[in-house]
Order: sequence, then C-alpha cells, then structure tokens
Amino acid sequence: MAGDQGKERRMIRPNKPNKSTSLTVIFILFFSILSGSACSTGEGSPQKRANDFLEVYNSLVSALFNVMEESSWDASVDVTPEHDGARVASGRALAVFLGDRAVIETTRELLSRSKELEPLTVRQLRAILLNAAGSPGTIPEIVKDKIESESRQSSKLDSYQFCFEHSGDECLDPITANGIDDMLLDSTNLDQRLRVWEVSKEIGPHLKPGLVELQTLRNKVARELGYSSFFDLQVADYGMSVDEMMDMMENWLETIQPLYKELHCWTKHVLAERYGVPVPKMIPAHWIANRWSQNWPGLVEGVDLDQYFADREPEWIVEQSEAFYVSMGFSPLPASFREKSDLYPVPEGSERMKNTHASAWHINLEDDVRSLMSVQSNTRWFQTSHHELGHIYYYMSYTRPEVPPVLRGGANRGFHEGIGELISIASLQVPYLKDIGVLPADAEVDQIKWLLNEALEQTVAFLPWSAGVMTFWERDLYENELPPDQWNSRWWDHVAHFQGVEPSSERGEEYCDPATKTHINDDPAQYYDYAFATVLKYQLHDHISKKILKTDPYNANYYGNKEVGAFLKDLMAAGQTRDWRELLTETTGEDLSTRAIMEYYQPLMDYLQEANKDCDCSWE
Ligand SMILES: [Zn+2]
Repeated sequence: MAGDQGKERRMIRPNKPNKSTSLTVIFILFFSILSGSACSTGEGSPQKRANDFLEVYNSLVSALFNVMEESSWDASVDVTPEHDGARVASGRALAVFLGDRAVIETTRELLSRSKELEPLTVRQLRAILLNAAGSPGTIPEIVKDKIESESRQSSKLDSYQFCFEHSGDECLDPITANGIDDMLLDSTNLDQRLRVWEVSKEIGPHLKPGLVELQTLRNKVARELGYSSFFDLQVADYGMSVDEMMDMMENWLETIQPLYKELHCWTKHVLAERYGVPVPKMIPAHWIANRWSQNWPGLVEGVDLDQYFADREPEWIVEQSEAFYVSMGFSPLPASFREKSDLYPVPEGSERMKNTHASAWHINLEDDVRSLMSVQSNTRWFQTSHHELGHIYYYMSYTRPEVPPVLRGGANRGFHEGIGELISIASLQVPYLKDIGVLPADAEVDQIKWLLNEALEQTVAFLPWSAGVMTFWERDLYENELPPDQWNSRWWDHVAHFQGVEPSSERGEEYCDPATKTHINDDPAQYYDYAFATVLKYQLHDHISKKILKTDPYNANYYGNKEVGAFLKDLMAAGQTRDWRELLTETTGEDLSTRAIMEYYQPLMDYLQEANKDCDCSWE
C-alpha cells in the first residue's frame, strides 16, 4: 500500500538464525550433484557447464524457497512459537544454500567466461551471486555474527514498551505505537503532542549499540563479494552504482521541490491556525500526524468514500478486484488461490492470531499464489485488495518457461511495488467506481481536494523523506561509514534540508532518532524502493491514460480494456530477464523521471500558488 507498507516477498532476504534444520537431506543431495557434475571438473563448454549448474540450482532453490514460504505462511496466518521456529529454520536453510561457498566459486568461475555464455545465462549467474552476497559461506563467522546481531535487534524492536510516564525503571503509563499514532492524529494540544513525540523517540538510544554493530558487520559481509559497502550491495539489485542511484534521487528531489515547497507552505499555515500559534519557518516535527513526518494525514476533509462501500460484503471486494484483472484479459485466479489464501479477519472468539499486514505470496515460484489480508468493507481494503492482486498477477505473468525460477521477481525491488501502487490509483478512478455501481452516476468529486489529499498522504510529502532523508542517511551510514557520534546531527541536517522540518527540542548524540524507524534496523539500505515505486506508478499511469485510453489521468478507466491488460502483461512477463531501464523505455518510450508526477499535480500546483501568494513560504 501507499508509502512504506509491505513489499512482495523475495527469495534473497531470509537470514535469520537457527539451531537445526530438517533440510539436511536436500543439501547433501545438492552437494553430491554439484561435486559430481561437469561444472566442478571443468569438462564441457562453459555454456554446457553453466546449463548443468543452473538446472540443479534452479530446481533446488525452488524447493528450498517453497519450504521456507510454506513455513512462513503458517507462521503468519497462525502465530505460535512452533510456527515461528519452523520459519526461522527454513529461512536459515535457504540462506545457507544461497551463500554456499561451492555455489559462489562455481558461479564466479563461470562468470569469468561470460563472453562465451548466452545473455540469459549471465543474468542468472549474476542473480545467483547477488543472492549469495547476503550470507556468503566464505566468511561463516561474520555471517553468523551478523545474523545473530540482526535477530537481537529485531527482538529489541518488537519487545520495546513505549512509556508515557516513568518512575525510575518502572513504567507507570505504557502506550502502544498505535496509541502514539492516534494521539498525533487527534490531539491539538501542542504540549501533549511534544510529549508523545518525545516518547516515540525513546526507543532510539536502546537500539543504537546494535546498529553500531550492524554498520560494521553488514559492510564486512557486502565487501566479501566485492561491493564497496552494504548500501552498494543493496543498490546492485537495480544494476546501478551508488553514485547513479544518488544522482537519480537528487534529480527527483530537485524537480519535485517547487511543488513540495508550496505544499509545505500551505501545511504550516493550516497547522499554525489549528494550534493557534504563529506560522514558523520550518514545521516542528511534533506538529505533523506522523512520527517521522513521512506523510501528512488528517489535513483534508470530505475525501472519504467509505460510505459507498459500507453495504458491500468483504467477499465482493475480493471478487471485484479479480474481475478488474479478468476484464483486462488476465486469466481468472487459480482455484487454489481461494482455497489457500487467508483473506478476511479472524472470526470473533477464535484463539488464532494472524499477521494483519496485507501481503502477496508466490509460494513455490509456480502456480501456488496466495494473499494474506483482513478485508473489510471500506475504501482502504478495496484499494489494498486491488493492489495485492497486482502482485499476484505479476507473479503469474512471469511464471513461464522462458523465465527461470532464479529470475522470477520484479524487474527490480521497486518495480513490483510500483505495479501494485499503479493499480491502487486505477482502483479509485471515478469512471471505474461508477461503472461497477460503487459511486452513483451523478456523483461529483472535488478534484483539488482529492489531489491535495493524495499529495499529502501518499506522494509529494513522502518523496523528500524516502528519496531524501532515509536514502541519504543510510548512504552516509554504510558507504561513507559515518561515525556513531555524528549520527543524530547528520539525521537532523537531512530532515531540515529535505523536509523543512525541525525538532522542537535539542536532539544531541545521546539520542538516536534514525534508529526509531523500523526499516533502518530490519529492512536496511533499500528505502529508495518506495520512492522508486512512487515515481514509477505515475509514469505508467500517465502512459496508460494518455497513450492507451486517450484520456486525462484523473478519469482513466482501465476496467474492461484489453489493450491496457496487454501493456501490463508485456511489462510484467519479463520478470528479471531484462534490465529495468531498457524495459521501461521500450514500453513507455521514455526514461524514468518525475515528468509525469509533476504534470499530474499541475492543477494542485496552480491552486497552491494562488492560495500561498501572500504568504512567506521560505524555510531556510
Ligand atoms: Zn505491495
């Protein structure tokens, strides 16, 4: 969903520790095949040896991935310590296989003959090396330390108790993360807002020692396979260097800045009036209804469509989402999707606990696709259900013989999310909602309010955070090895520079505010994925609206259009077999840029410039 909510599940991530594994048999099988195969003895042409190796690798990686996904699925739909143990064990088994020394050596040796290999073979071998780089078996002690350190960091993060009022070590008034968010959304008392914002940052110092450890360990692991840093390793998924990625981010930030400044100006005036205080230069961090000011909800009224979904059954929402794809020419979902997915909230009275975060799964890298949701009758779930099925149809599109299992993924990490996000926009287009009888035929939507809300909650406010603060700070952390005694000051420099936001009290190095963001600990050095998905979705939507549907991007009805379906299929069927830039230029005729997003928001830009014309908008 919008912003930094979940991504599709990928095979290169699992690396949690375990004590034992039931998969030993599979390893023994693999290593006996590997040692007995032509590839280790140097016989046959490089292409022939690569074919033999890839055949074994692909079938084993599919099998291990399948076992891991089955146990992760069980652990997500029925949260118990036993299921969690099995998930950790199978994840570890896959990680050990991916990073195995023999795999790395064979792959490197074959890649040294890459001129004699077919391009698709080289692509697979590179993907194998990238998969191995997360847990290389050539430095087992360091990999083990990293895995254990990450596991400790996750436990600290998950078990932390936020506390509104302490008495020594004792917490007199505990508060949940949701409680913090609710208070930031509702409270107009600035003292109370400041207090709860500070409470939300108390977890930082608690996580800093672990992050200091991980800065070193993650870099050591990445350097083993020749990456300059852990940041460089993560960026390699895009086939780009660190400098190329940072240039792309900088370019986006620069082009979007005029719009962001107008939005910032409008917001600080609205909030100053709400709190009854003078308009500041920068926005104080505790004024915004998000702990990191990453999106700015609760500022626009009259954009809620929930009343139109209230009398629909949750089952209808899922059926309509599937019908949306089928109408564009996609196949119906396999029967197993409905049998095996877990789509609705746990019935009242049931003891079972499930993960409430929406996700889409490609269990066996073949036809076993599933979704985990808790669909209810409202706009958010209508959009989420369309979004998650976007991932499912992406999986189904690249599951074909021409795409080997190791390349069954999005063109890069951000691409998968971008497709889901694209369908999120498409699902709320007015003509579609009227077509399927959700909106009355004569309903009118206030376009400016709609755009303003979208800019604040999902897009424009989000980019300086995702492409700016998070990406630049993590680049500093890993690539530039920023010393821990400069972490917090660098963080707030970036927040001021990119977001025009400032802390309301002194934030010295005794705090560690970046560590309060889950992704810094658990999903490191890949936050630009979300910025990428945001920019990509507008470019694709612009292309579909103007070039295929010949309409403006506010009234683009994908429903029932086979040409739109064919366009999406072409884009998705490639999986990772093509370079994403080539693929995008070929399908949309242009490189990725913020052109489409800026054009989309032009009516809002005009509105804001008029609204702000007598205001002092500078923040420097
Ligand atoms: Zn998604």
